[in-house]
Amino acid sequence: MNCYCGNQQPFEECCDLIISGVNVAVSPEQIMRSRYSAYATKNAAYIYQTYASSSKKEQSIQEIQSWAEETQWLKLTIKHSDYIKNIDNSVDKELLLPTVEFCALYIHNKTFYQMSEVSRFTLENHQWRYADGDIAEHIEISHPKRNEPCLCQSNKKFKHCCSSKLA
Ligand SMILES: [Zn+2]
Ligand SMILES: [Zn+2]
Repeated sequence: MNCYCGNQQPFEECCDLIISGVNVAVSPEQIMRSRYSAYATKNAAYIYQTYASSSKKEQSIQEIQSWAEETQWLKLTIKHSDYIKNIDNSVDKELLLPTVEFCALYIHNKTFYQMSEVSRFTLENHQWRYADGDIAEHIEISHPKRNEPCLCQSNKKFKHCCSSKLA
């Protein structure tokens, strides 16, 4: 099974290595993917930990946790990510922060939602952190017909897949 983030590796060999601290995320995209997988696995502590310190004070682990509990994250698509070779390259704070543009699909209250965001990331103590983001689109989307492919990453028919999560 692919990682929650959509990479064709198991979670244990992908985002879990970063979430558990075995590996350090070497790019904004990797920290973005690991945060998405942390939402999918309802790991609020990690999501909180990977906010930039300037954003942490507006966050509460409990609120993140209850939001993660209420949602099922189905699919992540990375549309664009700034290429940054590795975290030893100094990033000039005066320059624009590197961004990752993504689209995510999730279920909340038995409804599919699609959210597109351009997220900004910053380095703190050689670790990538999520600074903030601009939501480009956040819409409710109608579910497929029973025999159509599901909207998630399963390649199954809708009736054999996420339809049960909407019942
Ligand atoms: Zn992953
Ligand atoms: Zn599905």
